[in-house]
Amino acid sequence: MGQILEVRGLTKRFGGLTAVNDVSFAVNEKEILSVIGPNGAGKSTLFKLISSFLKPTTGEVTFRGERISNQAPHIAARKGVVRTFQETTIFRNMSVRDNVIVAHQLRARASLLGFFMGSAEARRDEARFAESADEILAFLGLDGIGNELARNLPHGHLRALGIAIGLATNPTVLLLDEPFAGMNHDETMKAVAMVRKLRERGLTVLLVEHDMPAVMKISDRIVVLNFGEKIAEGTPSEIQNNQRVIEAYLGV
Ligand code: ADP
Ligand code: MG
Repeated sequence: MGQILEVRGLTKRFGGLTAVNDVSFAVNEKEILSVIGPNGAGKSTLFKLISSFLKPTTGEVTFRGERISNQAPHIAARKGVVRTFQETTIFRNMSVRDNVIVAHQLRARASLLGFFMGSAEARRDEARFAESADEILAFLGLDGIGNELARNLPHGHLRALGIAIGLATNPTVLLLDEPFAGMNHDETMKAVAMVRKLRERGLTVLLVEHDMPAVMKISDRIVVLNFGEKIAEGTPSEIQNNQRVIEAYLGV
């Protein structure tokens, strides 16, 4: 399994506060890698740095050996490094299905391919994507409610729609920031199965999540942050038995 992403000496300061402090790790192709740590540890900031939403103070992120940090955010997006998050843009007065289609079109427009493809080719792509949109909806258990307005969806379905919108942009690396937050046990189990299926389909998944049983179950490897610093990295069983991690986070 080759390496797809590398984070090297990544640091982000907000004024006097160091949110991410000299963090390095590599992510392998088709890996599920979780980032855990207490509130304020820098997990979301790390994801924003990796997806190029924020520029690092120092350090860099490379995708298949090419630097994606300190570039315009669309460079990362074009390579398929996509972050879904609570505030993902969901058009509330549009149907579930149209939200997914629009997300795809926005990506197509933004891409060089879309730019050069011309309108006929772009329309063909849109027609082809209509089927994929239905597949994505089915994949996330939203197929029965494609015609519902997004604003009428319950919390769990909105979460799923956020992920569907991310998938519509055809990602290679999907960064999920607390995708199971607010879900009950059954919904979490379904979402865990869904993340596994994403990997089977060839995606690399980076996950920030507080639900420890879910994290231990799903992850190939885990990176632990505390006060912006990486304090451990390893397999779920290595992390569960790491004294420093137990003291900082898992213990109490
Ligand atoms: P986590 O996701 O692990 O809870 P965050 O990455 O959201 O942590 O935040 C890490 C630290 O950086 C916190 O102290 C937070 O208050 C601070 N922080 C995050 N974003 C900003 C920002 N845009 N400006 C100033 N401080 C920020
Ligand atoms: Mg966070």
